[in-house]
Amino acid sequence: MNISATPKSVAAEAAQILERLGVEPSLYTGGTLAAFSPVTGEQTGDLKVVTSEDAAKAIDAADKAFREWRLVPAPKRGELVRLLGEELRAAKADLGRLVSIEAGKIPSEGLGEVQEMIDICDFAVGLSRQLYGLTIATERPGHRMMETWHPLGVIGVISAFNFPVAVWAWNAALALVCGNSVVWKPSEKTPLTALAAHAVLDRAIKRFGDAPANLSQVLIGDRAVGEVLVDHTKVPLVSATGSTRMGRDVGPRLARRFARAILELGGNNGGIVCPSADLDMALRAIAFGAMGTAGQRCTTLRRLFVHESVYDQLVPRLKKAYASVSVGNPLDGSALVGPLIDKLAFDGMQKALAEAKKHGGSVHGGERVDCGTAESFYVKPALVEMPKHEGPVLEETFAPILYVMKYSDFDAVLQDHNAVGAGLSSSIFTLDMREAERFVSADGSDCGIANVNIGTSGAEIGGAFGGEKETGGGRESGSDAWRAYMRRATNTINYSKSLPLAQGVSFDI
Ligand code: NAD
Repeated sequence: MNISATPKSVAAEAAQILERLGVEPSLYTGGTLAAFSPVTGEQTGDLKVVTSEDAAKAIDAADKAFREWRLVPAPKRGELVRLLGEELRAAKADLGRLVSIEAGKIPSEGLGEVQEMIDICDFAVGLSRQLYGLTIATERPGHRMMETWHPLGVIGVISAFNFPVAVWAWNAALALVCGNSVVWKPSEKTPLTALAAHAVLDRAIKRFGDAPANLSQVLIGDRAVGEVLVDHTKVPLVSATGSTRMGRDVGPRLARRFARAILELGGNNGGIVCPSADLDMALRAIAFGAMGTAGQRCTTLRRLFVHESVYDQLVPRLKKAYASVSVGNPLDGSALVGPLIDKLAFDGMQKALAEAKKHGGSVHGGERVDCGTAESFYVKPALVEMPKHEGPVLEETFAPILYVMKYSDFDAVLQDHNAVGAGLSSSIFTLDMREAERFVSADGSDCGIANVNIGTSGAEIGGAFGGEKETGGGRESGSDAWRAYMRRATNTINYSKSLPLAQGVSFDI
């Protein structure tokens, strides 16, 4: 492939960005994995794919790096992540643009993804001085009991196309300050951003000076490479982000060898609009949550329950927003909705809409929008009024489809809200304190994220991110998610001259 043949093409722009970020052209030319931009459907690279043997060797090398890195004091490890944050700030415009080229995000979302990487670096730097355990009261005199947290090993990261670099940063920043090495298998649909993000880390490593070789590696390939990470005994934790289908395979394989899993899988996120809701606010939150990123966020709003008393005020306004939203090339900065990632996503969307019609759904939008090339797939976001909570509503379709249903009873709508396999994100729009508190209570939303008067998507660094049920149960990024990347030891130290046994047990020899 000659990537400079059409100078104004997105492929040429991607190549220029990669060059500026210091990615060797040999890494994305002359290989067998074709990379495409969903913006135009153009090929942007053909990458060399690692073999399973090379992947296993990379893991062995990462294990060696871990053994050195774990001895570096945590605040010093934090210095590396601080440098990564600095390099990301410098690379933000380029990397954000590359995210837009490769994942089809509008500019503010491409840049927002890099900002999320910077934010997790800041968070992790602070954390590098806070990896503390407890001192625990012991029943034995002259003893002290405490817990210590130690580095875990090689952390495998498998990531999805829709957050091609932020998810890696969430994991890598925490893993590195916790004293681990990292091996990353990015999505085969977004390999260029992976190479670019890793080149940014390489710069930080160079400035840091004495980090062990192979502390962090990126392995380009498809699921077969991911499987090597999942099955390798030197990888004690795999953080895998992607579909529930992927998690169903990865989870049991990890369990079989007693490895840890952070599973961040599909979502089928719901929102409830109550009689007292601020409808202007709800409208904006719903529009961003359901149409933003062309419906390709794990936290995208997919199911909306609207109280019958406000249905006729809200839904016509929503339909108007759907009819008028700008769909188009995300790179020129005027569209709010960019392309679907590929034809497979488009076909999946059309199939779900046909199913919805069979269940009595009334479909507004969903048709393909011509944006100049046969190989790119742009759609009008679809709003589907459904008579019942059933059929395709119960499954995640990774495209901009919002199913809207009317409700009358709060208990019943909570039940419907929770009656899907996934349990990632949820929202309620209400000014009624009882409804709001109930929604976030033990018998409210069953999701990992339950919001009041904001949408389902757009989480910030600081809170633990993840979901329940078929979303996999993993938590990463904020709060105490760091603990998953370390092993805990409980230490009891006897500084007395006797050996009392716990629970009054005597064993005199
Ligand atoms: P996908 O499951 O097709 O692929 C995700 C990654 O897993 C890729 O790198 C792929 O190569 C790898 N993979 C697939 N099968 C594997 C296997 N058996 N063993 C090892 N690796 C395997 O997902 P996608 O289409 O890239 O992303 C969209 C999906 O990801 C949606 O379902 C979305 O909700 C989900 N997602 C979840 C989160 C979250 O935090 N919960 C975040 C982003 C995306």
